[in-house]
Amino acid sequence: MKFIIATNNQKKLKELERILNPLGINAVSAKDEGISLDDVEETGTTFAENAFLKAEAAFKKTGLPSVADDSGLCVDALDGRPGIYSARYAGENATDSDKNNKLLSELKDVPEKDRTAHFTCAICCILPNGEKIEVEGICEGSIAFEPHGNGGFGYDPIFKYGDKSYAELSSEEKDAISHRGKALRKLKAELEKYLDK
Ligand code: IMP
Repeated sequence: MKFIIATNNQKKLKELERILNPLGINAVSAKDEGISLDDVEETGTTFAENAFLKAEAAFKKTGLPSVADDSGLCVDALDGRPGIYSARYAGENATDSDKNNKLLSELKDVPEKDRTAHFTCAICCILPNGEKIEVEGICEGSIAFEPHGNGGFGYDPIFKYGDKSYAELSSEEKDAISHRGKALRKLKAELEKYLDK
């Protein structure tokens, strides 16, 4: 069964493809199918609601089962911000490095012990019969004092898992422990139950 990955974010798309395909889930971008996805207004108040809005829009547009991710970084010292606003935290057209710099400056006086944070990834998958599967993955870590590493995307250089930032991990290392890797492995388990029905 072919699944459309409901995102226009190229870096996220790559990560979703690279995790889903080895799990035996045939995931393709809308572009591969010659379809262009409209940007979806993320009006939900939770990661799960926004993931559903994106998956539903792709399902309606393509007629194919669709998988969407809504994710973000929740910082304890900022009462969970940027959270669902992680993509737009430094404004609509801000770069990843603008967002990282803004976060580092908001945390400049916060000591190491209070810099705890987690990434959340909510995945919604709309099946051919319109049923939905919803799963979530969380990765606990902390915010560094400065960026480290060149890999990944978004907040990867400032999010520390143990001694290393996400951006210092190889793709395989990140996928094994990341919020997205955890959520997608749960999706695989749920899909297997559905396909066994
Ligand atoms: P959205 O899910 O499209 O609303 O965007 C989530 C935002 O959270 C991304 O644009 C990134 O800034 C950030 N984000 C989500 N997952 C990751 C990750 O694995 N690494 C770094 N940043 C991430």
